[in-house]
Amino acid sequence: MPFSMTCTNRGCGDLMEPYLDPSTDKVFCSKCDKELVNITHFIKAQMKQFKQFKPKKNISFAVKCKKCNTEDRPLIKNKDIICPSCKTIHSHLSQAFKIMLMEQLKKASQDI
Ligand SMILES: [Zn+2]
Ligand SMILES: [Zn+2]
Repeated sequence: MPFSMTCTNRGCGDLMEPYLDPSTDKVFCSKCDKELVNITHFIKAQMKQFKQFKPKKNISFAVKCKKCNTEDRPLIKNKDIICPSCKTIHSHLSQAFKIMLMEQLKKASQDI
């Protein structure tokens, strides 16, 4: 079970699973994104064990590349779904997921 707690920040107070920023060793509320103080080393160690790290920017429809490990919104090229970083085709995706993703990517690119 990942570690969860009630946010101690005023105006939030939600029960959530906080995240740790490994670069600063600070813990943040996953609901209001404010720092949570008084987090013990024990809890931090526990969070590290569960990899409750600061989430990367929330990229919709992000796919993790098997080749370069980049997690980003893929590109469509010649009806294939490719990694935007190394341009490798995401061949590990299921056909159904590919179709869904293509539709969503088209919609998403129209939003911009
Ligand atoms: Zn909060
Ligand atoms: Zn890649």
